Amino acid sequence: MKNATRAVIGGRRSAKEARTVNPPLTRASTIVFPTYADLQAANRTRSGDGLTYGLHGVQSTYELEEALCAIEIGDRDPAGYRTRLTQTGLMAVTMPMLAILSPGDHCLLPDSVYGETRNFARRTLSRLKVEVEYYDPLIGGEIAVLMRETTRLILVESPGSWTFEMQDIPAIAAAAHAGGALVMMDNTWATPLYFNAFDHGVDISMQALTKYVGGHADLLFGSVTASEEVYSRYLQPFWRDLGAGVSPDDAWLALRGLRSMPTRLSHHHAAGVRVGAWLMTRAEVAEVIHPAMPHDPGHALWQRDFTGAGSLFAFVLPEDRSSDAHVAALVDDLALFSMGFSWGGYESLILPTNPQAARTATTWPRPGRPGGRVMRLYIGLEDPEDLIADLAAGLDRLAALPPS
Ligand SMILES: *Cc1c(COP(=O)(O)O)cnc(C)c1O
Repeated sequence: MKNATRAVIGGRRSAKEARTVNPPLTRASTIVFPTYADLQAANRTRSGDGLTYGLHGVQSTYELEEALCAIEIGDRDPAGYRTRLTQTGLMAVTMPMLAILSPGDHCLLPDSVYGETRNFARRTLSRLKVEVEYYDPLIGGEIAVLMRETTRLILVESPGSWTFEMQDIPAIAAAAHAGGALVMMDNTWATPLYFNAFDHGVDISMQALTKYVGGHADLLFGSVTASEEVYSRYLQPFWRDLGAGVSPDDAWLALRGLRSMPTRLSHHHAAGVRVGAWLMTRAEVAEVIHPAMPHDPGHALWQRDFTGAGSLFAFVLPEDRSSDAHVAALVDDLALFSMGFSWGGYESLILPTNPQAARTATTWPRPGRPGGRVMRLYIGLEDPEDLIADLAAGLDRLAALPPS
């Protein structure tokens, strides 16, 4: 079965009677049991495995977990893996880290990691006496030299969501496993539809469902998928101890988003590459950073490991056209692009970014690459030709200002 089909049928129980296409939304705190034997059976179930108490899950959350898990693991046996939901994408990063890391442990994070993950590491992990070390996202198998006796977890994020450096995940995973560490991936950009994390050595795959799964800029949610072994050893007890329940309403909405995600993503991929190729023809653009485009330094890895691309990428303005006035001329009067954090919805976004401020192990710009302002683009579901016309007018306004 292909993933587009899994996205449509996942989590749905077929019945031989008339039924609604979408499963009903179930909300519950209390579950009631008809007999003492049923109550005893429920007490023996691990949380998350059946109906015991609303905190651990109800039909609407299980349906989403099942559907996501089917896509995450492809042809593997679903009995060997488990997906759990989190209230936000960020919690899908931070909860496994808290579940796995103890005082004295060493943890490696890519220098291009999602900004809030970096904040969590700096404040909370350091308070818990976890040693956090940042590595060059391009390090590949040489990460072996950074491994210590105490290295328990390596995070990967490919590409990073500001600078879009591609990582050699199989090489990093091989080094991690040789040294006894687990690998967790933030797979929000490609989603499991375009990058199967488990085929490339990842142990824990998380996504911010807020982005492409939700797809409509109206919910915050996350998911974590791991093998049964990793799940029962680290994640399940921690979820239980923390009381980390999620809203069935949001699960229902995310499941509705998932049904159309494969179709939306193929539009996002094509439209992103189309807009990126057009940007490269403009004199006001010093560089387009998009791993699905052949000129990109990460293209070979993208081509080797990925089957499609997210539509979040960046372009760099020339250094003499990077002043605040130039940026404002470009963005202030755009008709279709809005400025906003987050992405993954149906509308296109543009965001001036400052990658150098969030780096400690490497410098930005990377050696040999242009140093102007980095503009992040998210290409939504509008017609890409309309988006190009909007950006063309913005770049014309920018070009009308004298160089600085
Ligand atoms: C948005 C995002 C997150 C966090 O998701 P929230 O639901 O906003 O907490 C994590 N990682 C990446 C790459 C993201 O883009």
